[in-house]
Amino acid sequence: MPDKNRPLLSVIVPVKDEEAAIAPFVARVTKVLDELRDGRSRAAWEILFIDDGSQDSTLAAIHAAHRADPRIRALSLSRNFGKEAALSAGIDHAAGQAVVPIDVDLQDPPEVIGEMLDQWREGYDVVYGVRRNRMSDSLPKRMTADLYYRAHNWLSADKIPEHAGDFRLLDRKVVDVIKLMPERNRFMKGLFAWSGFRQAAVEYDRVEREVGETKFNYWKLWTLAIDGITSASTVPLRVWSYIGGCIALLGLAYAAFIALRTIFYGIEVAGYASMMVAILFFGGLQLLSLGVLGEYVGRILVEVKHRPIYVVRERIGVEE
Ligand code: UDP
Ligand code: MG
Repeated sequence: MPDKNRPLLSVIVPVKDEEAAIAPFVARVTKVLDELRDGRSRAAWEILFIDDGSQDSTLAAIHAAHRADPRIRALSLSRNFGKEAALSAGIDHAAGQAVVPIDVDLQDPPEVIGEMLDQWREGYDVVYGVRRNRMSDSLPKRMTADLYYRAHNWLSADKIPEHAGDFRLLDRKVVDVIKLMPERNRFMKGLFAWSGFRQAAVEYDRVEREVGETKFNYWKLWTLAIDGITSASTVPLRVWSYIGGCIALLGLAYAAFIALRTIFYGIEVAGYASMMVAILFFGGLQLLSLGVLGEYVGRILVEVKHRPIYVVRERIGVEE
């Protein structure tokens, strides 16, 4: 049942050092949202920025936008918590019947929101945007992204749609489920995938960033990838039991072979090379499996500490 006390739509926008991007974003998105209709009247909407510890004048730009149009609201976090945490803050405070996370850099065209709303009205609870082509990304970025989606979906039971970013429409039902998820590790695409519901896709062309530059280098993306896989799957932990089992069997067969050979042919001293290979190989394998174990243990530590996911320093037009 649509709740008439809520605006139809909340657009949530995490921003980190994006002073030059706020004004063009507001101009273009406001135009799109003002054309949306809710029945016979204009749709009520809000834009909710989440200032993720910006060091530049992003917050001042948001204040200016709020003064010009009070439907533009914001939360300012006490420091940089990362995009996933900022998105969580947005989801927690969004008022809309439907919520659309979008980046401020206009790489995802806001005009697509209209199509998402149409699908939502058909009864879909999640309408995610799929990039028709990723030509705006470099070849290595496309290849690693591809590899990641494959690895994630192979290891995890909750499949994330390929080439879909965070740009999507979420029904209030889905938002409420995500708000209930207690984990500190907020790999949003994984949380969206886990929650299920009726999903539809709309295709769009992703363009290049117009102002500012990307906040994600390869190291950050790699960390994000590990966060994603470890939060969605325990296969990397379990696989060592099977690897260990296979190696133990092979070891047993080799032991029998050596014993028989010694019985029939006597003791042979050579074997330095095979010994070194075995020691180094298994040493490496053990460290690798310990490392994987460590990844999970570290994450358990973060979860049991139970710290807040983000800290709000200032609210601009957002009620408690
Ligand atoms: N962002 C954020 N916190 C961060 C890094 C990025 O809120 O620590 C925001 C950023 O301002 C932008 C969005 O996340 O609105 C996507 O970032 P970006 O465009 O740099 O990522 P890319 O499109 O290159 O993957
Ligand atoms: Mg971008």
